[in-house]
Amino acid sequence: MSHSPSEFGPLTYISRGYGYSEKGSVLEIFEPLSDSPQILIMGSIHGDESLSTILLSDCLRSIQDHELKSSIILAANPDGVLAGTRCNSRGVDLNRNYPTDNWSPDPVYYRNRPGTPQNIALSPGDVAASESETKALIKLIQDIKPKLIVSIHGFLGCIDDPDASPIAKDIVLRSGLELVPDVGYATPGSFGSWCKEQAIPIITYELPSLDITEMKRIHIPILKDLITGHYHKMLL
Ligand SMILES: [Zn+2]
Repeated sequence: MSHSPSEFGPLTYISRGYGYSEKGSVLEIFEPLSDSPQILIMGSIHGDESLSTILLSDCLRSIQDHELKSSIILAANPDGVLAGTRCNSRGVDLNRNYPTDNWSPDPVYYRNRPGTPQNIALSPGDVAASESETKALIKLIQDIKPKLIVSIHGFLGCIDDPDASPIAKDIVLRSGLELVPDVGYATPGSFGSWCKEQAIPIITYELPSLDITEMKRIHIPILKDLITGHYHKMLL
């Protein structure tokens, strides 16, 4: 199925289910029609950062189907997006549920607004990889073997790439965001830590706090280039 670039309404691209959430929602991935995907780009592992889903959907709906060259997960935590929560339906921060060397059973604390105490507790899961969303994503990545993963979060306003890769540096140039080797605090059991242990390059793309018009103006062209293959030549 193809659509003209002027059709920005419905999301017509056909997805594939790669599993189910704890609440039974289908976990969806949008894959290129022909080329084997080299970049996996994903949004909303934190359901309260669903602007990432909106931006990726906008990109996907503004290209011809054959132009898609990367794989896209619009929402790695669909139930969190629907509920407006950082965690999944079982209260687990999926970004602390990965089986890494440093996974910890301790609760993870976050703050909801700048300037407030970091005292809202979430579970990292009873054990590492306890959640179906986590297990499904691990299996998917082992199957499709991306050369690069870009995980979109908000709203620290930085590009986190411990390798300081050429792609990350180009995104930094275009976005004006700062390049950092980590987000500045420990993230036991995070998806990024898991990717590093699997030797899968990962860029954590922390959107800034911007009004939506500016956000789209600056970041949609970059995200669109990530999904249409512009960056493939820069992959190692
Ligand atoms: Zn996040």
